[in-house]
Amino acid sequence: MNSDHIQNIIVVGGGSSGWMAATYLHSSLNGLVNITVIESPTISRIGVGEATVTTIKTEFFDRLGLSEAQWMPECKGSYKMGIRYANWKKTPEEGGDYFYHIFGEIPYIDEVPLTHVWIKKRLEQNYNIPMAYACYPGIAAMDLKKSPKLHNNIQAHYYAYHFDATLLASYLARWSVSRGIKHVYDNLTHAELNAQGNISCVVGAGGKKYAADLFIDCSGFSGFLIEKTLKEPIVSFENSLLTDRAIAVNFNENPETDGIRPYTTATAMKAGWMWEIPHFDTSGNGYVYSSQFISDSQAEQEVRQFFGKKAEKADVRIIKFQSRRRQNAWVKNCISIGLSSNFLEPLESTGLYFVYAALYQLIRNFPKKIIDPVLRDKFNQKIRFMVDEMRDFIIMHFKTCRRTDTPFWLANKHETVVPDSLQKIFERHQSGLPIKTTHQSDIKLYASFGVQFDNFWTNTNYQSILCGVEVLPDTALPLLHYRDDIMKKGEELFKHYQLESQRLINTLPSQFDYLSKIYAMKNNTVLDEVK
Ligand SMILES: Cc1cc2nc3c(=O)[nH]c(=O)nc-3n(C[C@H](O)[C@H](O)[C@H](O)COP(=O)(O)OP(=O)(O)OC[C@H]3O[C@@H](n4cnc5c(N)ncnc54)[C@H](O)[C@@H]3O)c2cc1C
Repeated sequence: MNSDHIQNIIVVGGGSSGWMAATYLHSSLNGLVNITVIESPTISRIGVGEATVTTIKTEFFDRLGLSEAQWMPECKGSYKMGIRYANWKKTPEEGGDYFYHIFGEIPYIDEVPLTHVWIKKRLEQNYNIPMAYACYPGIAAMDLKKSPKLHNNIQAHYYAYHFDATLLASYLARWSVSRGIKHVYDNLTHAELNAQGNISCVVGAGGKKYAADLFIDCSGFSGFLIEKTLKEPIVSFENSLLTDRAIAVNFNENPETDGIRPYTTATAMKAGWMWEIPHFDTSGNGYVYSSQFISDSQAEQEVRQFFGKKAEKADVRIIKFQSRRRQNAWVKNCISIGLSSNFLEPLESTGLYFVYAALYQLIRNFPKKIIDPVLRDKFNQKIRFMVDEMRDFIIMHFKTCRRTDTPFWLANKHETVVPDSLQKIFERHQSGLPIKTTHQSDIKLYASFGVQFDNFWTNTNYQSILCGVEVLPDTALPLLHYRDDIMKKGEELFKHYQLESQRLINTLPSQFDYLSKIYAMKNNTVLDEVK
């Protein structure tokens, strides 16, 4: 390799983002660059029992050559087919409600989304099958805690995973060390800059200096390099997103008797929402809330009440956060990835997506030792787009929630700021038009990570939430008034999905049975594979 190419990378931080960065860079650069991960022996990782989105399989695990039988048993992994939103329309006192946001694109008929056939039927015929049940054949099976895969491993539904991110970090650390990535424990105290303002080295507690050409800051919320050393400002979203704390609590579960839900549950609460993430035989749970509206002890009380007996003796952990991003994620020769770079309140489980999506963009814009600012600017622009688009989608959830029973929900309705980009989406929806259509089947859309990155939220996603809470447009898509042929084809598809739904219920194994088979295949090839 030329001496003007990057030869040494230091990753600061050994949380899930640090180890994902080390493994991803190692495999994407063909092992040609020396990578060292420096992790504090005293500062623990964030790990709350994470949920993910579909591309983590193709863009991350497949890239490392890791099969489900290898990594899932190590990280208590389970399948996730989507998110169930409970009580976002009605309070429990009003009887409660739920809707789903499911993976996979809802199809188009002659470039009109099936969602809009559903909307017309709902508005004009009071069609009473909820959108997700009408447009996805796999939901009834999901309710019955079935696996998204058949016993012969054929996939019947798009899926992502639930797992313990702390265990994932440990697993990836073992994978890394067995492949020559260096792992150092040290409490870094500061960094030194050269005359151009680039980082020349980071300095450990005993004064040891670690030099590299490129530094990846995965130091979590503290932002050891990007904030403390390079002082890159943040762009805060606190005017739009009020939640700023979480109480996390883990439980042991009994999957053999209770089954394993293949979805995340997000239940609206008095001052935020509760997450439930089922792993194989444990679960990660917690309350994301706003400290303006509820104290930590009130929030803890709500958690204990919600989970009842299970939570009586459980330890809880309070995590403070701010929804925000760096103005620039890449500054000088330092790229911030993970919590040091950005964080959005976790309603759509996108934290780890931000990690491998940033790594994907970094590889596409990977520099030489002397960094061409064009590469850096391109990366920064992609990360800004990624976070801001996600921010709008999450704000949409809070803005359209139908609850007005507490000061928190009233403030979300009347006081928080709607970015112009989201306002345009609301206007478009009200006019009856689809939002962000791709006209692609999911096979084409999901075939390229780059295409998916640019089209992360599509009409399917927006309609799942808006129609889920019954924020319907004023009028059906005007075109459909003239196109009975599209309406008829839509009706046929709805009927076909009802039949298909029964077939899936009859043929899919339970998630517990399917995972038991995968877990029984557990082996330690992660180390054996190294030659
Ligand atoms: C409430 C909550 C819920 C979440 N839910 C989800 C979810 O459902 N799905 C999802 O994908 N993501 C979720 N996330 C985000 C996800 O947990 C993080 O993105 C992920 O864990 C990555 O964290 P990290 O590695 O950036 O930081 P951390 O895990 O905090 O790791 C930081 C590392 O830096 C090291 N370090 C710090 N300072 C120093 C120093 N001076 N010297 C040496 N080492 C140092 C620490 O030792 C540690 O190893 C959630 C986060 C929160 C807070």
